Amino acid sequence: MQTLELQGQSLIGDSTSSVEGEYIQAVNPATGEKLEPRFYSASADDVERAAQLAQAAFFPFANTTGHARAKFLRAVADRIAQNTDVLVERAHLETGLPLPRLQGEVGRTTGQLRLFAEVLEEGSWLDARIDLAIPDRKPLPRSDIRSMLRPLGPVVVFGASNFPFAFSVAGGDTASALAGGNPVIVKAHPAHPGTSELVGRLIQQVVAESGLPPGAFSLLFDAGIAVAQSIVKHPVVQAVAFTGSTTAGKALMKLCAERPTPIPCYAEMGSTNPLFILPNAMQERAATIANGLKGSFTLGSGQFCTKPGLVFVPQGEDEQFVGVLRSGVDELGRMGMLTPGIADKYTAAVEERKAQGSAELLADANADGQSPCASGQPAVFAVPLKEFLAEKELEEEIFGPTTLLVHYGAVKDLTSVAERLHGHLTATIHATDKDLERAGDLLKALESKVGRILFNGYPTGVEVCHAMVHGGPFPATSDSRTTSVGTRAILRFCRPVCYQDTPDSLLPPALQQANPLNIMRLVNGELRRDAIR
Ligand code: NAP
Repeated sequence: MQTLELQGQSLIGDSTSSVEGEYIQAVNPATGEKLEPRFYSASADDVERAAQLAQAAFFPFANTTGHARAKFLRAVADRIAQNTDVLVERAHLETGLPLPRLQGEVGRTTGQLRLFAEVLEEGSWLDARIDLAIPDRKPLPRSDIRSMLRPLGPVVVFGASNFPFAFSVAGGDTASALAGGNPVIVKAHPAHPGTSELVGRLIQQVVAESGLPPGAFSLLFDAGIAVAQSIVKHPVVQAVAFTGSTTAGKALMKLCAERPTPIPCYAEMGSTNPLFILPNAMQERAATIANGLKGSFTLGSGQFCTKPGLVFVPQGEDEQFVGVLRSGVDELGRMGMLTPGIADKYTAAVEERKAQGSAELLADANADGQSPCASGQPAVFAVPLKEFLAEKELEEEIFGPTTLLVHYGAVKDLTSVAERLHGHLTATIHATDKDLERAGDLLKALESKVGRILFNGYPTGVEVCHAMVHGGPFPATSDSRTTSVGTRAILRFCRPVCYQDTPDSLLPPALQQANPLNIMRLVNGELRRDAIR
């Protein structure tokens, strides 16, 4: 195995970029110290080479078998797992995230790659459909019509700051795009450039060892937004995947839409994840829910897109709940945050909420004592429902360890509140059996507002599995029809292609008479695995 050393270079297919011009350096958010080395912005020439190599890789990579891509994804997972210690050590310096969390995240990342490998081997994701010809149909014969999913082309992935592994260079977007047969160009997140380069070098090694075209993967550094913008605008790029702020997500959506050839932009942006506590659940489990909520809204210092930032509680029945929540928050100190910029933004947003005055500060953590250089003070606010409905900005995400309690009067009010919410990733209902008869309308209203509805749980912690949906209507994401977590994520980077009366030898194997891939196919409306005779 080759040793891993940071060079501060973009990875352009099987080569590296020049090291000159503008650069970024990671900052240790715990100490404020700048970390070596410098990571140089990709030049215009580097961007062009990455794009041309990706385009050259597209046909050979798209036409590899699912089994070959599965082998490749497993090899990437193995290589990352073998280097866990060095990866986690660098990520800890760059993000301040605790080592166990980072080790867990590496496991999630490799598990995600392996899950996509299974999907490729199983094969039904291709959605192969065959309607056999009916030559003697009257008044007109029917042609032989077959269709399946094919990859889109080169995909640009933006690494997210809050998941340096699972939503970064080898994260869910990259795994799903590669699984679908699309070359990937990652724009590294400036908050963890070293982690990005290390993971990128591992992928680069595996691409070469697997005999895949070098342009199947590239990694670009950017000291501003020029590199990101030029690669998104490049004509060979066919889709963009992004996780981050609403501002940046919307800027990328606009850029993708305004290209001479517009392309899809799958942006996962802000979400406040409403949580509804119904009256009987509050009476029976106030302390348990308060403790669970505290754990969830402060998990990862509140830097999760699924953080419950909006909690509907029954007016006049929340004394114990508020007491437990308040004492739980009192015990906390300031919490380390991912970057000085994110910490500053969080503090400014909390101060603005205090100054704005409509929400009352119910509890905040102890601000004294030692804290990491980039840190935020956990805080809980409360507001009556009427005020909440009057001030739209109270629904907006504050990224960090804060949440807002909204006091409601009657359960029936919750349904109309839900109908007035904008899109979020998740919604949670805490209810007992006694509450359930009043929860049906709320559930129905939430179906058109979020991608995932939970009962009696907490939305942080997103399982990577076949049925998961991590998406939701705008502004949670740019396209509510998709998910960025779970195996359905692969569908974002594919499109259906139909083959009419096409000779068997020219059809993709998934659609051939003999079914050489032995996959499930919809033949004349019936799911079958056998060959067509
Ligand atoms: P960000 O500001 O959205 O940046 C994400 C990535 O997009 C970075 O690589 C950034 O590069 C790039 N970028 C920003 N503006 C761009 C533009 N106009 N054109 C092209 N690229 C652009 O996110 P962040 O730095 O990770 O965190 C900032 C805030 O984002 C947080 O405070 C939080 O509100 C939100 N956030 C949300 C989620 C979520 O899951 N929904 C996750 C992380 C962060 P530069 O940094 O070099 O500009």
